[in-house]
Amino acid sequence: MSNLSEQTRAYIEKEEQYGAHNYHPLPVVLNKGEGVYVWDVDGKKYYDFLSGYSAVNQGHCHPAIVKALCDQAQVLTLTSRAFHSDLLGEYSEYITKLFGYEKVLPMNSGVEAVETAIKLARRWAYVKKGVPQDEALVITAKDNFHGRTLNVISFSTDPSAKAGFGPFMPGYDVVSYNDLPALEKALQNKNVAAFLVEPIQGEAGVYVPDEGYLSKAYELCKAANVLFIGDEIQTGLARTGKMLACDHENVRPDILILGKALSGGTLPISAVLADDEIMLNIKPGEHGSTYGGNPLACKVAIAALEVLKQENLAENAEQLGNLFREGIRNLNHPNIALVRGKGLLNAIIIKHDDPDAAWNLCLLLKENGLLAKPTHGDKIRFAPPLVITQAQIEECIQIIKKSLEQL
Ligand code: PLP
Repeated sequence: MSNLSEQTRAYIEKEEQYGAHNYHPLPVVLNKGEGVYVWDVDGKKYYDFLSGYSAVNQGHCHPAIVKALCDQAQVLTLTSRAFHSDLLGEYSEYITKLFGYEKVLPMNSGVEAVETAIKLARRWAYVKKGVPQDEALVITAKDNFHGRTLNVISFSTDPSAKAGFGPFMPGYDVVSYNDLPALEKALQNKNVAAFLVEPIQGEAGVYVPDEGYLSKAYELCKAANVLFIGDEIQTGLARTGKMLACDHENVRPDILILGKALSGGTLPISAVLADDEIMLNIKPGEHGSTYGGNPLACKVAIAALEVLKQENLAENAEQLGNLFREGIRNLNHPNIALVRGKGLLNAIIIKHDDPDAAWNLCLLLKENGLLAKPTHGDKIRFAPPLVITQAQIEECIQIIKKSLEQL
């Protein structure tokens, strides 16, 4: 903290004194964002290469999203689902038509939507598939990340997410990711309701499965009468170069989970999409959320999705992602063991004697005007807002090069 300004130190100290220590942020205090940039309290400008863990795909404070937010905030923000609003139907029609599903169930945070998807799958298994009561199983993948609730960490394989929080929820079977034989074997159990999977494992360090994994996994699920649940909270909404990462393999999940960029970083908005056969097994009073589907969220989500389409952000992510990976690979730097990713969801793996090298590189990147964060020790995720331009990507590659040279 020695080279930090006095006011930066004061902000950080106050946060540490009064806030729980459940995160380990980079020592930078931000107070402004616009497009691909954020500014710290001393006025220094940075490229944001985390984008709020891919919530800010549309760029910080996108004017169309902010306008929708401000306009609606002055009219009606919350009705609860005890009453109808004039926007829930419009939003539901918009999002279901956009993604090609019969129904949507709106929630707030990502993990709530994951919980919702699991409840839907279990209910479907009992009502439609005939699984004996309380015996439904959901298959998940090793090194998954689906959020932080007790149920969801019950099938985490990451000790730091799980240790010391038991007892855990039963009803899960964890198989290796990118391992079709393991999935096929697990699917032999007649009580399996669903396979819950991230099309690319983001938190695990942007682990991209082999081509064909998702489509073959989907086929295996179909053959076993098991629902395929796609958690596209991080990979969806144009991040990987298509509207959904599953689109790369023409897979249509039976249950699709969206979050994060559904609000462009302004509000917690998540959604679960499925057809009537699955969705209508949940009846009034059996599931819900005070804020889910509120008018403010409906208006903001439509605006956020419109921006993705109108600004061709999937195409931009595809093109500039290729350029970015090529640019980093061409550095041929000995401290980069691997570059991987799809679209603008990328990561590098650091090879260095110092176990803190990834963290130290992020500190150097910060000094040089780019913010990124290590994940799982030796990996750094690079996920800028999708509104980034070619010239900006080229500048960022130079910042990364310079920082590597200083490491
Ligand atoms: N699922 C995936 C794939 C995620 O990446 C995340 C968050 O990083 C979540 C679920 C949880 O979302 P939230 O933090 O909004 O609960």
